[in-house]
Amino acid sequence: MRVFKFGGASVKDSEAVRNVAKILKNFADEKICVVVSAMGKTTNALERITKCYYDNDENLNKEFEELKRFHKEILGELFPESDHSIYNEINNLFVEVEWAIEDAATGTYDFEYDQIVSIGELASTKIVSAYLNDNGVKSKWFDVRDIIKTDNTYREGNVYWDETILNTHNTIGKHFENNSGIAITQGFIGCTSENFTTTLGREGSDYSAGILAYGLGATEMTIWKDVPGMLNADPKWFDSTEKLNHISYREAIELAYYGATVIHPKTIKPLQNKSIPLLVKSFLDYTTEGTLIDEETTEDSLIPSFIFKMDQLLISLSPKDFSFIVEGNMQDIFGVFSKHKVTMNLMQNSALNLSVTVDNDEQKTPGLLEELKKDYKVWLNNGLELVTIRHYNSKTIERVTKGKDILVEQKSRHTARFVMKDLGKAEV
Ligand code: ASP
Ligand code: MG
Repeated sequence: MRVFKFGGASVKDSEAVRNVAKILKNFADEKICVVVSAMGKTTNALERITKCYYDNDENLNKEFEELKRFHKEILGELFPESDHSIYNEINNLFVEVEWAIEDAATGTYDFEYDQIVSIGELASTKIVSAYLNDNGVKSKWFDVRDIIKTDNTYREGNVYWDETILNTHNTIGKHFENNSGIAITQGFIGCTSENFTTTLGREGSDYSAGILAYGLGATEMTIWKDVPGMLNADPKWFDSTEKLNHISYREAIELAYYGATVIHPKTIKPLQNKSIPLLVKSFLDYTTEGTLIDEETTEDSLIPSFIFKMDQLLISLSPKDFSFIVEGNMQDIFGVFSKHKVTMNLMQNSALNLSVTVDNDEQKTPGLLEELKKDYKVWLNNGLELVTIRHYNSKTIERVTKGKDILVEQKSRHTARFVMKDLGKAEV
Protein backbone atom coordinates (compact mmCIF):
# COMPACT_ATOMS: atom_id res chain seq x y z
CA MET A 1 0.00 0.00 0.00
CA ARG A 2 1.41 3.32 -1.05
CA VAL A 3 0.30 6.93 -0.75
CA PHE A 4 0.84 9.39 -3.59
CA LYS A 5 0.42 13.12 -3.35
CA PHE A 6 -0.16 15.29 -6.41
CA GLY A 7 0.06 19.05 -5.83
CA GLY A 8 -1.69 21.91 -7.59
CA ALA A 9 0.89 22.19 -10.38
CA SER A 10 0.36 18.55 -11.33
CA VAL A 11 -3.32 19.21 -12.05
CA LYS A 12 -3.08 22.79 -13.30
CA ASP A 13 -4.84 22.16 -16.62
CA SER A 14 -6.37 19.37 -18.68
CA GLU A 15 -3.00 18.32 -20.08
CA ALA A 16 -1.65 17.96 -16.55
CA VAL A 17 -4.61 15.82 -15.47
CA ARG A 18 -3.99 13.54 -18.47
CA ASN A 19 -0.38 13.23 -17.35
CA VAL A 20 -1.43 12.24 -13.81
CA ALA A 21 -3.67 9.56 -15.33
CA LYS A 22 -0.77 8.33 -17.43
CA ILE A 23 1.38 7.95 -14.32
CA LEU A 24 -1.38 6.24 -12.35
CA LYS A 25 -2.02 3.76 -15.16
CA ASN A 26 1.29 2.14 -14.22
CA PHE A 27 -0.04 1.44 -10.75
CA ALA A 28 -3.58 0.42 -11.61
CA ASP A 29 -3.14 -3.07 -10.12
CA GLU A 30 -1.62 -1.88 -6.86
CA LYS A 31 -3.23 -0.44 -3.76
CA ILE A 32 -2.57 3.27 -4.08
CA CYS A 33 -4.14 6.07 -2.07
CA VAL A 34 -3.87 9.29 -4.06
CA VAL A 35 -4.10 12.68 -2.37
CA VAL A 36 -4.74 15.60 -4.71
CA SER A 37 -4.52 19.38 -4.14
CA ALA A 38 -6.69 22.03 -5.72
CA MET A 39 -6.01 22.72 -9.40
CA GLY A 40 -3.23 25.19 -10.19
CA LYS A 41 -3.69 28.43 -8.29
CA THR A 42 -7.25 27.64 -7.19
CA THR A 43 -6.52 27.99 -3.48
CA ASN A 44 -5.15 31.50 -4.02
CA ALA A 45 -8.27 32.37 -6.02
CA LEU A 46 -10.55 31.00 -3.29
CA GLU A 47 -8.58 32.99 -0.71
CA ARG A 48 -9.25 36.15 -2.71
CA ILE A 49 -12.91 35.20 -2.99
CA THR A 50 -13.16 34.75 0.78
CA LYS A 51 -11.47 38.08 1.37
CA CYS A 52 -13.76 39.89 -1.10
CA TYR A 53 -16.78 38.29 0.56
CA TYR A 54 -15.64 39.25 4.02
CA ASP A 55 -14.71 42.82 2.99
CA ASN A 56 -17.82 43.33 0.83
CA ASP A 57 -15.48 43.92 -2.08
CA GLU A 58 -17.13 44.46 -5.45
CA ASN A 59 -14.60 42.17 -7.14
CA LEU A 60 -16.24 39.15 -5.53
CA ASN A 61 -18.34 38.26 -8.56
CA LYS A 62 -15.55 38.72 -11.04
CA GLU A 63 -13.20 36.48 -9.03
CA PHE A 64 -15.83 33.81 -8.60
CA GLU A 65 -16.83 33.82 -12.27
CA GLU A 66 -13.19 33.50 -13.28
CA LEU A 67 -12.70 30.47 -11.03
CA LYS A 68 -15.81 28.81 -12.45
CA ARG A 69 -14.62 29.55 -15.98
CA PHE A 70 -11.22 28.00 -15.21
CA HIS A 71 -12.80 24.76 -14.00
CA LYS A 72 -15.34 24.69 -16.84
CA GLU A 73 -12.59 24.99 -19.40
CA ILE A 74 -10.74 22.01 -17.92
CA LEU A 75 -13.96 20.01 -17.74
CA GLY A 76 -14.74 20.79 -21.37
CA GLU A 77 -11.36 19.51 -22.47
CA LEU A 78 -11.49 16.33 -20.40
CA PHE A 79 -15.13 15.34 -20.77
CA PRO A 80 -16.46 15.84 -24.30
CA GLU A 81 -19.98 14.56 -23.53
CA SER A 82 -21.82 17.58 -22.22
CA ASP A 83 -24.26 15.41 -20.24
CA HIS A 84 -21.49 13.73 -18.23
CA SER A 85 -22.46 13.61 -14.55
CA ILE A 86 -19.23 15.39 -13.53
CA TYR A 87 -20.66 18.69 -14.82
CA ASN A 88 -23.44 18.49 -12.29
CA GLU A 89 -21.14 17.46 -9.48
CA ILE A 90 -18.80 20.39 -9.99
CA ASN A 91 -21.69 22.74 -10.50
CA ASN A 92 -23.15 21.64 -7.17
CA LEU A 93 -19.90 22.49 -5.41
CA PHE A 94 -19.92 25.98 -6.85
CA VAL A 95 -23.55 26.39 -5.91
CA GLU A 96 -22.51 25.66 -2.33
CA VAL A 97 -20.05 28.54 -2.51
CA GLU A 98 -22.73 30.73 -4.04
CA TRP A 99 -25.03 30.00 -1.12
CA ALA A 100 -22.26 30.64 1.35
CA ILE A 101 -21.43 34.05 -0.08
CA GLU A 102 -25.01 35.16 -0.65
CA ASP A 103 -25.59 36.07 2.98
CA ALA A 104 -23.41 38.25 5.17
CA ALA A 105 -20.65 36.42 7.00
CA THR A 106 -21.70 35.19 10.43
CA GLY A 107 -18.67 33.20 11.50
CA THR A 108 -15.10 34.34 12.02
CA TYR A 109 -12.90 34.99 9.01
CA ASP A 110 -11.00 31.73 9.58
CA PHE A 111 -14.23 29.73 9.78
CA GLU A 112 -15.68 31.20 6.58
CA TYR A 113 -12.30 30.73 4.89
CA ASP A 114 -12.27 26.99 5.51
CA GLN A 115 -15.86 26.48 4.35
CA ILE A 116 -15.12 28.26 1.06
CA VAL A 117 -11.48 27.41 0.31
CA SER A 118 -11.99 23.66 0.79
CA ILE A 119 -14.08 23.55 -2.40
CA GLY A 120 -10.87 23.59 -4.46
CA GLU A 121 -9.79 20.13 -3.32
CA LEU A 122 -13.30 18.68 -3.54
CA ALA A 123 -13.52 19.82 -7.18
CA SER A 124 -10.05 18.65 -8.24
CA THR A 125 -10.46 15.17 -6.76
CA LYS A 126 -13.86 14.69 -8.36
CA ILE A 127 -12.45 15.70 -11.72
CA VAL A 128 -9.37 13.46 -11.46
CA SER A 129 -11.41 10.51 -10.23
CA ALA A 130 -13.98 10.82 -13.01
CA TYR A 131 -11.27 11.18 -15.63
CA LEU A 132 -9.48 8.06 -14.39
CA ASN A 133 -12.67 6.03 -14.43
CA ASP A 134 -13.44 7.17 -17.97
CA ASN A 135 -9.97 6.21 -19.11
CA GLY A 136 -9.52 2.71 -17.91
CA VAL A 137 -8.07 3.34 -14.44
CA LYS A 138 -10.58 2.27 -11.82
CA SER A 139 -10.75 4.72 -8.96
CA LYS A 140 -12.91 5.31 -5.92
CA TRP A 141 -13.45 8.79 -4.51
CA PHE A 142 -13.35 9.35 -0.75
CA ASP A 143 -14.40 12.46 1.15
CA VAL A 144 -11.44 13.01 3.46
CA ARG A 145 -13.73 14.90 5.85
CA ASP A 146 -15.08 11.49 6.86
CA ILE A 147 -11.54 10.48 7.72
CA ILE A 148 -9.31 13.30 9.00
CA LYS A 149 -10.88 14.75 12.12
CA THR A 150 -9.57 17.92 13.71
CA ASP A 151 -10.33 20.40 16.46
CA ASN A 152 -11.98 23.67 15.48
CA THR A 153 -8.82 25.72 15.00
CA TYR A 154 -9.91 26.90 11.57
CA ARG A 155 -7.13 27.35 8.99
CA GLU A 156 -4.74 25.34 11.17
CA GLY A 157 -6.74 22.31 12.31
CA ASN A 158 -5.07 20.04 14.86
CA VAL A 159 -5.56 16.40 14.00
CA TYR A 160 -7.37 14.04 16.37
CA TRP A 161 -5.14 11.09 15.69
CA ASP A 162 -7.03 8.17 17.30
CA GLU A 163 -10.25 8.98 15.52
CA THR A 164 -8.48 9.70 12.27
CA ILE A 165 -6.56 6.42 12.29
CA LEU A 166 -9.73 4.49 13.02
CA ASN A 167 -11.55 6.26 10.18
CA THR A 168 -8.63 5.59 7.82
CA HIS A 169 -8.99 1.86 8.49
CA ASN A 170 -12.76 1.88 8.15
CA THR A 171 -12.77 3.69 4.80
CA ILE A 172 -9.72 3.45 2.55
CA GLY A 173 -8.27 0.56 4.55
CA LYS A 174 -11.48 -1.47 4.15
CA HIS A 175 -11.60 -0.65 0.48
CA PHE A 176 -8.11 -2.08 -0.03
CA GLU A 177 -8.98 -5.28 1.82
CA ASN A 178 -11.07 -6.34 -1.15
CA ASN A 179 -9.84 -4.22 -4.01
CA SER A 180 -6.73 -3.02 -5.65
CA GLY A 181 -6.80 0.16 -7.66
CA ILE A 182 -6.79 3.80 -6.82
CA ALA A 183 -8.42 5.53 -3.86
CA ILE A 184 -8.64 9.26 -4.51
CA THR A 185 -9.03 11.80 -1.76
CA GLN A 186 -8.42 15.44 -0.88
CA GLY A 187 -5.38 16.99 0.65
CA PHE A 188 -5.44 20.04 2.92
CA ILE A 189 -8.92 19.62 4.44
CA GLY A 190 -10.43 17.94 7.47
CA CYS A 191 -13.55 18.10 9.58
CA THR A 192 -14.60 18.96 13.14
CA SER A 193 -16.81 16.75 15.32
CA GLU A 194 -19.66 19.15 14.43
CA ASN A 195 -19.11 18.46 10.74
CA PHE A 196 -17.63 21.80 9.84
CA THR A 197 -14.83 21.76 7.32
CA THR A 198 -11.36 22.74 8.50
CA THR A 199 -8.08 23.22 6.66
CA LEU A 200 -4.65 22.18 7.86
CA GLY A 201 -2.68 25.28 6.80
CA ARG A 202 -1.45 26.37 3.37
CA GLU A 203 0.40 23.71 1.42
CA GLY A 204 -1.08 21.20 3.83
CA SER A 205 -1.75 18.43 1.31
CA ASP A 206 1.66 16.89 1.94
CA TYR A 207 0.73 16.66 5.59
CA SER A 208 -2.63 15.05 4.70
CA ALA A 209 -0.77 12.41 2.70
CA GLY A 210 1.56 11.83 5.66
CA ILE A 211 -1.42 11.42 8.00
CA LEU A 212 -3.06 8.88 5.69
CA ALA A 213 0.22 7.03 5.14
CA TYR A 214 0.56 6.73 8.90
CA GLY A 215 -3.05 5.62 9.39
CA LEU A 216 -2.87 3.05 6.61
CA GLY A 217 0.60 1.83 7.57
CA ALA A 218 1.80 2.52 4.03
CA THR A 219 5.01 0.98 2.76
CA GLU A 220 6.00 4.20 1.02
CA MET A 221 4.81 7.70 0.26
CA THR A 222 5.58 9.68 -2.89
CA ILE A 223 5.21 13.41 -3.43
CA TRP A 224 5.05 14.13 -7.17
CA LYS A 225 6.50 17.54 -8.04
CA ASP A 226 7.44 19.69 -11.01
CA VAL A 227 11.09 19.42 -9.92
CA PRO A 228 13.21 16.25 -10.08
CA GLY A 229 13.36 15.87 -6.28
CA MET A 230 14.52 17.90 -3.32
CA LEU A 231 17.03 20.39 -4.66
CA ASN A 232 19.72 22.22 -2.74
CA ALA A 233 18.08 25.54 -3.63
CA ASP A 234 14.89 26.82 -5.19
CA PRO A 235 15.50 27.20 -8.94
CA LYS A 236 13.67 30.52 -8.58
CA TRP A 237 16.80 31.97 -6.96
CA PHE A 238 19.64 29.88 -8.39
CA ASP A 239 20.46 29.14 -12.01
CA SER A 240 22.07 25.83 -11.25
CA THR A 241 20.84 23.53 -8.52
CA GLU A 242 21.78 20.04 -7.37
CA LYS A 243 19.43 17.24 -6.45
CA LEU A 244 19.72 15.70 -3.00
CA ASN A 245 19.56 11.97 -3.75
CA HIS A 246 19.18 10.59 -0.26
CA ILE A 247 18.68 12.47 2.99
CA SER A 248 17.49 11.59 6.47
CA TYR A 249 14.13 12.46 8.01
CA ARG A 250 16.03 14.75 10.36
CA GLU A 251 17.65 16.67 7.54
CA ALA A 252 14.34 16.94 5.67
CA ILE A 253 12.68 18.39 8.77
CA GLU A 254 15.52 20.88 9.21
CA LEU A 255 15.23 22.01 5.60
CA ALA A 256 11.44 22.26 5.74
CA TYR A 257 11.61 24.11 9.06
CA TYR A 258 13.95 26.76 7.66
CA GLY A 259 11.56 27.27 4.77
CA ALA A 260 12.36 24.85 1.95
CA THR A 261 8.97 24.74 0.28
CA VAL A 262 9.27 21.31 -1.29
CA ILE A 263 7.71 19.56 1.71
CA HIS A 264 5.29 20.88 4.27
CA PRO A 265 7.17 20.84 7.62
CA LYS A 266 4.58 18.69 9.42
CA THR A 267 4.76 15.89 6.85
CA ILE A 268 7.83 14.07 8.08
CA LYS A 269 6.88 13.28 11.67
CA PRO A 270 4.11 10.75 10.96
CA LEU A 271 6.30 9.08 8.34
CA GLN A 272 9.33 8.92 10.62
CA ASN A 273 7.22 7.51 13.45
CA LYS A 274 6.38 4.47 11.32
CA SER A 275 9.60 4.39 9.29
CA ILE A 276 7.71 5.01 6.05
CA PRO A 277 10.17 6.12 3.34
CA LEU A 278 9.28 9.30 1.48
CA LEU A 279 10.10 9.80 -2.18
CA VAL A 280 10.02 13.15 -3.92
CA LYS A 281 9.78 12.63 -7.67
CA SER A 282 9.04 14.51 -10.85
CA PHE A 283 5.64 14.07 -12.47
CA LEU A 284 7.14 15.46 -15.67
CA ASP A 285 9.76 12.75 -15.97
CA TYR A 286 8.43 10.01 -13.78
CA THR A 287 10.95 7.34 -14.70
CA THR A 288 13.89 9.22 -13.14
CA GLU A 289 14.82 8.66 -9.54
CA GLY A 290 13.97 11.46 -7.19
CA THR A 291 14.99 12.07 -3.61
CA LEU A 292 14.69 9.34 -1.01
CA ILE A 293 14.06 10.43 2.57
CA ASP A 294 14.33 7.82 5.29
CA GLU A 295 16.36 6.92 8.39
CA GLU A 296 19.86 8.23 8.98
CA THR A 297 22.23 8.38 6.06
CA THR A 298 25.74 9.69 5.78
CA GLU A 299 24.93 11.65 2.65
CA ASP A 300 23.24 14.47 4.56
CA SER A 301 26.17 16.80 4.89
CA LEU A 302 27.62 16.59 1.42
CA ILE A 303 25.80 19.30 -0.46
CA PRO A 304 25.23 22.78 0.96
CA SER A 305 21.54 23.76 0.73
CA PHE A 306 20.20 27.30 0.47
CA ILE A 307 16.82 28.43 1.71
CA PHE A 308 15.52 31.90 0.97
CA LYS A 309 12.67 33.69 2.68
CA MET A 310 11.81 37.02 1.13
CA ASP A 311 9.75 39.97 2.37
CA GLN A 312 10.84 39.53 5.96
CA LEU A 313 10.15 41.98 8.75
CA LEU A 314 12.66 42.39 11.57
CA ILE A 315 10.96 43.39 14.81
CA SER A 316 13.24 44.61 17.60
CA LEU A 317 11.76 44.91 21.06
CA SER A 318 13.02 46.56 24.18
CA PRO A 319 11.09 46.75 27.48
CA LYS A 320 9.80 50.28 28.08
CA ASP A 321 10.78 50.12 31.75
CA PHE A 322 14.41 49.39 30.86
CA SER A 323 14.30 45.91 32.39
CA PHE A 324 16.45 43.10 31.02
CA ILE A 325 15.19 40.62 28.48
CA VAL A 326 14.83 37.57 30.72
CA GLU A 327 12.62 34.49 30.99
CA GLY A 328 9.65 36.46 32.34
CA ASN A 329 9.24 38.95 29.53
CA MET A 330 10.30 36.38 26.91
CA GLN A 331 7.36 34.27 28.04
CA ASP A 332 5.17 37.34 27.71
CA ILE A 333 6.48 38.12 24.21
CA PHE A 334 6.14 34.50 23.01
CA GLY A 335 2.56 34.51 24.30
CA VAL A 336 1.73 37.56 22.15
CA PHE A 337 3.28 35.97 19.04
CA SER A 338 1.45 32.72 19.67
CA LYS A 339 -1.87 34.52 20.21
CA HIS A 340 -1.53 36.29 16.87
CA LYS A 341 -0.34 33.07 15.19
CA VAL A 342 2.82 34.74 13.94
CA THR A 343 5.74 32.37 13.43
CA MET A 344 9.19 33.53 14.54
CA ASN A 345 11.50 32.66 11.66
CA LEU A 346 14.59 33.67 13.60
CA MET A 347 15.26 35.32 16.95
CA GLN A 348 18.20 36.79 18.77
CA ASN A 349 18.44 38.52 22.13
CA SER A 350 20.77 40.75 24.08
CA ALA A 351 20.49 42.39 27.51
CA LEU A 352 17.84 44.93 26.57
CA ASN A 353 16.73 43.71 23.18
CA LEU A 354 14.91 40.88 21.47
CA SER A 355 14.94 40.77 17.68
CA VAL A 356 12.57 38.56 15.77
CA THR A 357 12.24 38.00 12.02
CA VAL A 358 8.78 37.18 10.68
CA ASP A 359 6.99 36.94 7.34
CA ASN A 360 5.52 40.36 6.59
CA ASP A 361 1.87 39.31 6.67
CA GLU A 362 -0.48 42.26 6.33
CA GLN A 363 -3.30 40.31 7.98
CA LYS A 364 -1.44 39.30 11.10
CA THR A 365 1.37 41.76 11.85
CA PRO A 366 -0.61 44.97 12.55
CA GLY A 367 -2.45 43.33 15.48
CA LEU A 368 0.74 41.77 16.79
CA LEU A 369 2.66 45.06 16.70
CA GLU A 370 -0.15 46.96 18.38
CA GLU A 371 -0.14 44.57 21.30
CA LEU A 372 3.66 44.48 21.59
CA LYS A 373 3.80 48.28 21.66
CA LYS A 374 1.92 48.35 24.97
CA ASP A 375 4.94 47.20 26.97
CA TYR A 376 7.83 47.42 24.55
CA LYS A 377 9.56 49.93 22.39
CA VAL A 378 9.36 48.51 18.88
CA TRP A 379 11.68 49.11 15.93
CA LEU A 380 10.93 47.77 12.49
CA ASN A 381 13.03 46.95 9.44
CA ASN A 382 11.17 45.71 6.41
CA GLY A 383 11.95 44.47 2.91
CA LEU A 384 14.53 42.01 4.22
CA GLU A 385 15.55 38.54 3.15
CA LEU A 386 16.39 35.66 5.45
CA VAL A 387 18.86 33.20 3.99
CA THR A 388 19.69 29.88 5.61
CA ILE A 389 22.63 27.75 4.47
CA ARG A 390 22.75 24.16 5.67
CA HIS A 391 26.28 22.72 5.64
CA TYR A 392 27.82 26.08 4.91
CA ASN A 393 31.40 27.06 4.18
CA SER A 394 33.09 30.38 3.52
CA LYS A 395 32.44 30.15 -0.21
CA THR A 396 28.71 29.64 0.16
CA ILE A 397 28.48 32.45 2.71
CA GLU A 398 30.34 34.79 0.38
CA ARG A 399 27.98 33.80 -2.42
CA VAL A 400 24.77 34.78 -0.62
CA THR A 401 25.95 37.80 1.37
CA LYS A 402 27.72 39.63 -1.43
CA GLY A 403 26.34 43.12 -1.94
CA LYS A 404 24.02 42.76 1.05
CA ASP A 405 23.84 44.62 4.34
CA ILE A 406 23.72 41.99 7.12
CA LEU A 407 21.42 42.95 10.01
CA VAL A 408 21.46 39.67 11.94
CA GLU A 409 23.82 36.73 11.63
CA GLN A 410 23.64 33.35 13.34
CA LYS A 411 25.81 30.29 12.99
CA SER A 412 25.61 26.84 14.48
CA ARG A 413 27.69 23.83 13.54
CA HIS A 414 25.71 22.97 10.41
CA THR A 415 23.63 26.05 9.75
CA ALA A 416 24.36 29.69 8.98
CA ARG A 417 21.56 32.24 8.81
CA PHE A 418 21.55 35.84 7.67
CA VAL A 419 18.93 38.55 7.78
CA MET A 420 19.93 40.97 5.06
CA LYS A 421 18.95 43.98 3.04
CA ASP A 422 19.73 44.05 -0.64
CA LEU A 423 21.85 47.17 -1.03
CA GLY A 424 20.66 47.53 -4.60
CA LYS A 425 17.08 47.84 -3.44
CA ALA A 426 15.49 51.17 -2.65
CA GLU A 427 14.10 51.81 0.84
CA VAL A 428 10.42 51.00 1.14
N1 ASP B 1 -4.30 23.62 -2.10
C1 ASP B 1 -3.67 23.96 -0.84
C2 ASP B 1 -2.72 25.12 -1.01
O1 ASP B 1 -2.53 25.57 -2.13
C3 ASP B 1 -2.99 22.82 -0.21
C4 ASP B 1 -1.80 22.27 -0.96
O2 ASP B 1 -1.71 22.47 -2.16
O3 ASP B 1 -0.97 21.61 -0.37
O4 ASP B 1 -2.18 25.60 -0.05
MG1 MG C 1 2.64 22.20 -2.44
